[in-house]
Amino acid sequence: GQCIAVCPTGALTEVNNIPTVWNALNQKEKTVAVQVAPAVRVALGEEFGLEPGTITTGKMVSALKALGFKYVFDTNFSADLTILEEASEFLHRLKKGKNLPILTSCCPAWINFVEKNYPEFLNLPSSCKSPQEMFGAIAKNYFAPKVINIKPKDMYIVSVMPCVAKKYECSRTELGQEEVLDVDVSITTRELAKMIKEAGIDFLTLDEKDFDNPLGKSSGAADIFGTTGGVLEAALRTAYEWVTDKELADVNFTQVRGMEGIKEASIDIDGTIVNVCIASSLGNARKVMDEVKNGNSKYHIIEVMACPGGCIAGAGQPYHHGDYDVVKKRALGLYNIDRNKKLRKSHENPAIVALYDEFLGEPHGKVAHKFLHTHYFDKSLVYNVNNGECTCIKESDA
Ligand code: SF4
Repeated sequence: GQCIAVCPTGALTEVNNIPTVWNALNQKEKTVAVQVAPAVRVALGEEFGLEPGTITTGKMVSALKALGFKYVFDTNFSADLTILEEASEFLHRLKKGKNLPILTSCCPAWINFVEKNYPEFLNLPSSCKSPQEMFGAIAKNYFAPKVINIKPKDMYIVSVMPCVAKKYECSRTELGQEEVLDVDVSITTRELAKMIKEAGIDFLTLDEKDFDNPLGKSSGAADIFGTTGGVLEAALRTAYEWVTDKELADVNFTQVRGMEGIKEASIDIDGTIVNVCIASSLGNARKVMDEVKNGNSKYHIIEVMACPGGCIAGAGQPYHHGDYDVVKKRALGLYNIDRNKKLRKSHENPAIVALYDEFLGEPHGKVAHKFLHTHYFDKSLVYNVNNGECTCIKESDA
């Protein structure tokens, strides 16, 4: 056979997916829906001359409708769903004292890094699919058959992501049901901006529109997924209230915010001290994982995002040219969206509550596992192309 050298995260060769999306929008056989990640809404405006951090959610939804998407949905919806699954998985592991620290699993570049560099710890990442993938699974296996009465294979899911690695993630064949992948194609924030320009849409004069429902409803906890520390803060809001059965006096876990590469905090949940760590960049993740490997880690939860600062600084966003003021402004945009929402905890999202009632049953239950969870692979052995011959080598030797 022939070996083709490819970048495993998609980060080295950025595939242009715009033609694929135009093709999908131009055919009649499939119902085409789009989902948009939280980080996109505070950066897209930069491509049209707006300040970094400007919240363009309403105009973005209008633009997506004008491009021809039948349903414009929100990855935030499935970010809330991720929290319910991940918080229950964490509490389950904590109770048993097993498979700790739990590692977040939203970032495909990070998951790929664990699979290649720490194959002995494949029991540690949360088994939760990322919000992008959970979204596709629910859109195709719940919304399609139960809400609009079509087959999962007749629904086509496009995602708009701040990320280049998400393109690779949606091609992982275990992320789907039989032959039907959860997500069909992923484009970046920059690609969406190009499509809007190609279509001749005047972005700045668009009216503000709302996401379609029910997969467009979300809490503020979902918005902050786009920034370093946000996934952990969202999970803490839910885990705290589930364990204590008390309402959080203050949902802002400011200890886990900010742009430092490694942050840590200890949170008292009814007498149980939970030690949390947030690493952004893979270099920082390696430092934290080496402590786990040496047995010197005190953490119960570790959040990792491969991009320094989190998804707001993703490789698919408008270029920030290393200017971290831009990244901070985007983070502020997300925290402002969260602060101004009434609904700020994932477990209080009524659309998520209804989804469990009608379809999923319990968080971490059987149906949830079938559609929302995944497994990981030892990728420490990779193929090396050597004079046209494939030789299997340890990556560390490469
Ligand atoms: Fe993608 Fe970066 Fe976000 Fe990871 S942190 S999901 S690589 S944008």
